[in-house]
Amino acid sequence: MTELKVGTLIIGAGQAGASAAFALREKGYSDPVCIIGEEALPPYERPPLSKAVLRDEKNLADILVRDLPAYDTHNIQLMLGSRAEQILPQEQRVKLGDGQVIHYDHLILATGGRPRQLPGKALPGVHYLRSHGDGTRLAAELKQYRKLAVIGGGFIGLEVAASARQMGLEVCVIEAAPRVLQRSLPETIAADVVALHEDQGVEFHCNARLEGFVGTDRLSGIQLEDQLIDVDIAVVGIGLIPNTELAEAAGLAVDNGICTDAHCRTGNAHIYAIGDCANSYHGHYQRAVRLESWQNANLQGAIAAAAICADACADACSEIQAVKNDAVPWLWSDQYDWSFQVAGMFDSQAQLISRGSAAEGKVIYFIHSDGVLTGVVGWGKGTSVAKDVRVGQMLLQQGKNPPFEMLADDSISLKKLLKL
Ligand code: FAD
Ligand code: NAP
Repeated sequence: MTELKVGTLIIGAGQAGASAAFALREKGYSDPVCIIGEEALPPYERPPLSKAVLRDEKNLADILVRDLPAYDTHNIQLMLGSRAEQILPQEQRVKLGDGQVIHYDHLILATGGRPRQLPGKALPGVHYLRSHGDGTRLAAELKQYRKLAVIGGGFIGLEVAASARQMGLEVCVIEAAPRVLQRSLPETIAADVVALHEDQGVEFHCNARLEGFVGTDRLSGIQLEDQLIDVDIAVVGIGLIPNTELAEAAGLAVDNGICTDAHCRTGNAHIYAIGDCANSYHGHYQRAVRLESWQNANLQGAIAAAAICADACADACSEIQAVKNDAVPWLWSDQYDWSFQVAGMFDSQAQLISRGSAAEGKVIYFIHSDGVLTGVVGWGKGTSVAKDVRVGQMLLQQGKNPPFEMLADDSISLKKLLKL
């Protein structure tokens, strides 16, 4: 087999991998770029999997990161249905599952993560949700069955619960902690989200100890410590495990993700890690942070691409600037016709002040610890909170700390506070 030689090899054909490949081309990188993807599909966006894809409102073509011809026009080679099995860092080579070996100048690890699994054998009817295949299998069963249990009151759980209610199923959420979104959002905000779900008919079981799934050929119930719940379908959303094994076997530092500097570069000068799998130094927080979000996958793709371009053309083109990982994190979650948007990083026990109210259809929460603004969360109908959270993100990025009475005062535009 002849050895393929590329300028940049990207392992992982997901959001971050595709973002890096196109960013390289947009920055003028002209060496061969190749993306290896274990899944047989071209890179697609995962956020619709728990939303429009489940409800049959979008298909694969609607959710591709870029359409297929764009890979040709940007001269990006896609090797799909192909798994990278081993990195040989000294030789700058990667071995694929079929024995092929690829030589790289730069390697980007964009391997994402996989759902954390419950122990024990999974019965038919018990689903996890990460891939497009998972989404379409679940969508088919949601049309066929009536009673859904969601295990885990995190993002996947609540979004799937909302989609399933919209499709007319009976839905309950089983959460081990005393409340849902315990680690990600303060209690007041989680209560707004729960209130909407309860209005829509979702039942919540918090502090619930799952003893096991009941059923012989197929799921027929969920056994909790103190009760049996009759269900015929379940979705488990209890967190993500980053795919770090390849990196670890290659001797790269791994600690809750593949460790990188603020340019997404690992301890090996030729190897980068981006997206859900990377634990990267964050300039704004001055510590390593591993984020699991669409925005982070896109931004880190661009950061690694900029570092590679700066490296590749060194003194020749001074205008290419490496950029740093320092953007204040942002994410969104759509549930029914409501959406929340979250900017910043904060302790979910932190205090908050609010502007507006959920009863009025839109509320912005300003989260602070010891008097310092650390987060801005909007919860509202449609995209009503988008602009305010965007300005909130700018306040955080600029380290502004406006007086709390001004933040709470609806008559003062948030944009004005940027000028204080
Ligand atoms: P991935 O998208 O997981 O891509 C990694 C790819 O690498 C995978 O295709 C994997 O098969 C491949 N791979 C791994 N190992 C190998 C190997 N050895 N060889 C070859 N290929 C390999 N974020 C938001 O901000 N908002 C949302 O509303 C939102 N909704 C979501 C809904 C769902 C159902 C899910 C699952 C995620 C959601 N996210 C959301 C999170 C967001 O989609 C992820 O943060 C993002 O996809 C991460 O991109 P990534 O490229 O790092 O990883
Ligand atoms: P998650 O947001 O981390 O939530 C997992 C939830 O399950 C937490 O509430 C957790 O509680 C709970 N849990 C953990 N172990 C449990 C158990 N044994 N029994 C019952 N509950 C348990 O993870 P996720 O919802 O599974 O999402 C997976 C990935 O998809 C993440 O990367 C997430 O960011 C991404 N995603 C993002 C969005 C979005 O941003 N809108 C939407 C969907 C998916 P504790 O916190 O107390 O452990």
